[in-house]
Amino acid sequence: MDKSFALNDQVIMKKQHACGTNLWTITRMGVDIKIKCDNCGREIMMDRLEFQKKLKKVNKNEEIKEN
Ligand SMILES: [Zn+2]
Repeated sequence: MDKSFALNDQVIMKKQHACGTNLWTITRMGVDIKIKCDNCGREIMMDRLEFQKKLKKVNKNEEIKEN
């Protein structure tokens, strides 16, 4: 099972957030992974192992637009 992910990737988690979406963006990668809810902007942190368990899909098609 290969789920590679990188900073700023949009990811789909197995569980929906309380606000009703399961789309998140990775905002920090270190010992812990920080993800931000794309809908309500709430950020949560978890360790890599937990993140990989809860991760459903990495949205590689999503382009991050930055000026
Ligand atoms: Zn949310």
